[in-house]
Amino acid sequence: MPDRYLSWTAGGPGRFLAARLGLPRPEPLRRRQDGGPDVPGPVLAGAAEGGRLGKPVRALLAEWGVDAPDQADVPAALVLDATGVTTSERLREVYAFLHPRIRSLAPNGRVVVLGTPPELATDAREAAAQRALEGFVRSVGKELKRGATAHLLLVAPEAEEGLAAPLRFALSPRSAYVSGQTLRVTATPTPPSGSFDRPLAGRVALVTGAARGIGATVAATLAADGATVVCLDVPAQGAELRATAERVGGRALEADLTDADAPHRVVDDLTRHHGGVDIVVHNAGITRDRTLGRMEPGQWDAVVAVNLTAVERLDEALLDATAEGGPVLREDGRIVCTSSISGIAGNVGQTNYAAGKAGLIGLVQAVARDEAVAGRGITVNAVAPGFIETQMTAAVPLFVREAGRRLNSLSQGGQPVDVAEAVAFLASPGAAGITGQVLRVCGQALLGA
Ligand code: NAD
Repeated sequence: MPDRYLSWTAGGPGRFLAARLGLPRPEPLRRRQDGGPDVPGPVLAGAAEGGRLGKPVRALLAEWGVDAPDQADVPAALVLDATGVTTSERLREVYAFLHPRIRSLAPNGRVVVLGTPPELATDAREAAAQRALEGFVRSVGKELKRGATAHLLLVAPEAEEGLAAPLRFALSPRSAYVSGQTLRVTATPTPPSGSFDRPLAGRVALVTGAARGIGATVAATLAADGATVVCLDVPAQGAELRATAERVGGRALEADLTDADAPHRVVDDLTRHHGGVDIVVHNAGITRDRTLGRMEPGQWDAVVAVNLTAVERLDEALLDATAEGGPVLREDGRIVCTSSISGIAGNVGQTNYAAGKAGLIGLVQAVARDEAVAGRGITVNAVAPGFIETQMTAAVPLFVREAGRRLNSLSQGGQPVDVAEAVAFLASPGAAGITGQVLRVCGQALLGA
């Protein structure tokens, strides 16, 4: 269902009229497929005194060949190392760097603030100052216009080498529909590595629910990043599934994940054809919306079975240490679950769906902490999409659809590729320091903001 309002206000009389009437003016977002550099310049980089990350940021920008002058009339990004901010008074340095520059930020620009996880601060005043950055960045995201976004990266001491991939994701068009979010980067036994060109080369990925919608785009994006993709969906979607698998140069695997023997069949397939798997994207999901008092037991059961129990069962099978030859999910593996902002904020008519999607967040946090998982370098994260333009959302009534599209900082719905880019980032070797987290891909939706 095309967003006609977005096209209408993108230029000419529509843009003028929307401005005069005080209506939202969504900016067409620049994405990877639109071409252009992965990290557009010029980038203005600043640092509060005594920070840990100013130097690494400058080194990374130089390594990536990004223009990073001291001054620029229209900067593409503003990056501030705020790790040196140890008191509330010194938050003034954050203001001092961004205040004079923020109004000249380019369309589709980026504000990236770097801090220390408050729980790792050395005293209460530093913890307060670092926690303040979150409220600050969320507000900046809401103030920015013309497709620009804001990001907070909290980098633990000793985890500085893990900054490259999250910084690049934040600065690049791959994070077009992510704003106002906080990501924590923790230290890893060996520094994360890997190229940014084809970061998933040599990896095998399983994507569930890959026949259509977000899953099909995740499969295509992982394949474009170099992965061999096994595309799974129900037999009823067989034709679409085979078409996706063919398009991405991968393999189709028909299975209903709620079948009792599904985890066993998946494990068997991955072992036989690939000797294991490196990346698992739990994307399959369904809705059966009804308010609680009117919901049939079958509607409750179906949603929890697909959206949560099937994920638990498949994870258990893939991580089973008693399997012959060890767990099917290999060392440095990646699990990415597909939650939803419904699972964070709740939604009318979605008690079943929101319970399942919130349950996934609990699952991700618990599995990520498991020593048998973390000790093998495996990360476990979730993406939480907001309103994404798919067949699922095309089916919702017009008024609800329009509200979903506009009630976020970017005043538009996201595209499946926005979720896929976030998944590909979390699946990449460079994201080794990111685990147990939920990355919202929602244009900073007002729901649960
Ligand atoms: P979709 O309905 O287009 O695709 C879901 C796919 O999952 C389908 O191909 C379906 O056949 C498959 N599937 C369902 N049950 C299955 C089962 N038992 N076994 C195997 N495959 C099964 O949905 P979508 O919009 O692409 O959503 C993908 C994921 O993103 C879902 O988990 C959804 O909850 C989540 N999500 C979507 C949105 C959005 O706005 N579209 C927002 C938040 C979260």
